[in-house]
Amino acid sequence: MAKVLDVRGLRVDFRIDERYYPAVHDIHFHIDEGETLGLVGESGCGKSVTSLAIMRLLGPGTKVSGEVRYGGKNLLAIPDAEMRRIRGNDISMIFQEPMTSLNPVQRIGTQIGESLFLHRGLTGRAAREQAIQLLQEVGIPRAEEVVDDYPHQLSGGMRQRVMIAIAMACNPKLLIADEPTTALDVTIQAQILDLMRRLSRDHGTSILLITHDLGVVAEMCQRVAVMYAGQIVEQGPVREIFKHPQHPYTIGLLNSIPRMDGPRTRLTPIEGNVPSLRNMPRGCRFAPRCPHAMDVCRAQDPEPVMVEPGHDVRCWLHAPVKEAR
Ligand code: SF4
Ligand code: MG
Repeated sequence: MAKVLDVRGLRVDFRIDERYYPAVHDIHFHIDEGETLGLVGESGCGKSVTSLAIMRLLGPGTKVSGEVRYGGKNLLAIPDAEMRRIRGNDISMIFQEPMTSLNPVQRIGTQIGESLFLHRGLTGRAAREQAIQLLQEVGIPRAEEVVDDYPHQLSGGMRQRVMIAIAMACNPKLLIADEPTTALDVTIQAQILDLMRRLSRDHGTSILLITHDLGVVAEMCQRVAVMYAGQIVEQGPVREIFKHPQHPYTIGLLNSIPRMDGPRTRLTPIEGNVPSLRNMPRGCRFAPRCPHAMDVCRAQDPEPVMVEPGHDVRCWLHAPVKEAR
């Protein structure tokens, strides 16, 4: 399967009081054509930072290194103008709160039209008709009227549909969706996920789906990458990881969701907190919370190890023995 995106050794450092701290460290993952990859973890683990680094949208005070391969190029190394063309044209993004990305004083049609003009050169009547068609495609009723509405006239779910319409306006190869349903209530959430699944299927769009919700991953993704404290600690096929999680953090995360099919009804949260950027533990970053921590864990950061083809784990429990001694 061809890779749409291939992230190798991505690292992001944040400057705090004249010093740089690694917020995201040694990230490797790829997304295949037409695939939905889930990037999952607690808030503050670096999921959004990773996606913003890919899009080159991090502000000053950050240092990004590594490679983000897209279409034979390293996105971290191309000129700004080329990156701007890729952004919104080849790779689109949607966020948790559509109200912050929509312009409150512009009609919906104008905002979709902007994207259509920028990326497809459409203006006037052609743009308006295309905007209506896009609104219909994302399941907005009365699209001919909504096209003239302002964002505040729509519900949260409808606004997110508009954001998806804008993101899809240029038929991107990759859609990065950062907690797209977190702000919505459960029924609307399901509808938006349905819509994304349908768009991905109909247009072959790959999706990087960022979420803290393992239920969303189970429903939407073929593969999943689990992040903890700025690193991917485990990644592989969703089925395999849900059935046989290998990293103690993944096991903890899966134990913390209530199951419909088992006797477990109470949430079992993982004890302790995500370490802060300035106080990263030495060695494995999960060691202070890990029930299996050994001496080697507190001394040395484990490297990712393949436990099955396509299934990697970053944990000394799974490292070759000679390295662990
Ligand atoms: Fe736990 Fe050690 Fe594995 Fe880290 S490396 S998750 S501390 S067993
Ligand atoms: Mg986030």
